[in-house]
Amino acid sequence: MKICAVSFHCCPLSPVGGEGVGGMNVYLKELSTALACDPDTEIDIFTRDLNLGTDRVIKLNPSVRVVHLPAGPDRFVDRESLYDYLPEFVENLKRFMCKEKKSYTAIYTHYWLSGLVGEYLKQYFNIPLVHTYHTLAFLKNRVSSKPEHRYRLLAERHLSHTADLIISSSSEEKKNLMGEYGVSALKIKVIYPGVNHNLFYPSKAKRVYSESGFSENKKILLYVGRVEPIKGLMTIIEAFALLNKSHDPLLRLIVIGGGKKGSELSYNHEANRVKAAVESFGLTEKIVFLGSKEQKVLKDYYSAADTLIVPSLYESFGLVVVEALACGTPVLVSNVGKMKTIVKEGKNGFSFAPGSPEALANGLKEFYQKKHLLWGEAKIRQDVIDRFSWEKTGKETQRIFADLNQERIIPTTKFRPDESPQLA
Ligand code: UDP
Repeated sequence: MKICAVSFHCCPLSPVGGEGVGGMNVYLKELSTALACDPDTEIDIFTRDLNLGTDRVIKLNPSVRVVHLPAGPDRFVDRESLYDYLPEFVENLKRFMCKEKKSYTAIYTHYWLSGLVGEYLKQYFNIPLVHTYHTLAFLKNRVSSKPEHRYRLLAERHLSHTADLIISSSSEEKKNLMGEYGVSALKIKVIYPGVNHNLFYPSKAKRVYSESGFSENKKILLYVGRVEPIKGLMTIIEAFALLNKSHDPLLRLIVIGGGKKGSELSYNHEANRVKAAVESFGLTEKIVFLGSKEQKVLKDYYSAADTLIVPSLYESFGLVVVEALACGTPVLVSNVGKMKTIVKEGKNGFSFAPGSPEALANGLKEFYQKKHLLWGEAKIRQDVIDRFSWEKTGKETQRIFADLNQERIIPTTKFRPDESPQLA
């Protein structure tokens, strides 16, 4: 099976945690690595090139190639403006496919921009299209003050009908797609992302204390993720301010993400807004911003924290939740998306109403009162790795592509001797 994966706006090889680089990059890298365990599967992931105006092909492993294609300027471009470069990307993708004369059995697209690329390829080559939304504009718009791209709603609705199959990260998202766009339940398969248990496990490393300046007797709360309004970091700061009034002198917060410390982080608008709030509440001694960290060191932070707080206003899955749990650390999450069910109340964590500092402050009080009743580190880890693994995600995704292959006699991309693609 040869899969043409499209991830126009985000490259699975980009360092995670910076501007616009997060869960989707991790998802693509882990999933394609898991899919490639099958010796008969080959995956090419096509993405926009940020460096040079040439085709750059980088092998993630022997069966997975990341193909960087020129489209627009060779620098970071915000997602709002990326739409304009889709035609150039599609042309370069077609050109690349024609040059290689490689036949694909399916297209697998990620996020609405890539979905549009995939829809074009589906029509052009007559190959089936499988799409994953990752996030949905109509849900984001309900909780965000900044409306999504003007074409995104239309594109997402359109894709719900034109894609042959949709892979969703949660049954909550599936229900939403069925309700909003009238998509048939049969067309949406729910496959959960996983957690890399070789990367996330309990650690005894002490770097957290020297980096943050907090001593080991402090109650360390942790935030890990992109720093964007929808991620709700401000809710933690406001909850912290409420708790600070009731004098919990040991409470501390470490914020990881938002871009590299000293460079990207200082240009991050939301990070600056949150930092200004920290200052105005007089909390600068108690809250530190460490910037983005490589995934391989995150276990040290997850393990040192009493709890990971995930205050998102909207979240389809929440990889950081399963990562913290795999390190044996309980979580405190807003009651949205799949996070609602990843958390087993009173066992591996607690949940609270999204966007409510009061609810989070109460949740934190409850957490410290009942902490001794939660499962121990080993059980928290075992439970989550039993439920979520990239191997499982890979196998289920593999099955979906195989079934799709059997259900339809799938025409693959065909090329004439003159190297131009032939419509099947
Ligand atoms: N992450 C990271 N370094 C950071 C911040 C985040 O490697 O400094 C990773 C984290 O390990 C997780 C991903 O970014 O795998 C965030 O995924 P999540 O699903 O939590 O949020 P999303 O970015 O998809 O909104």
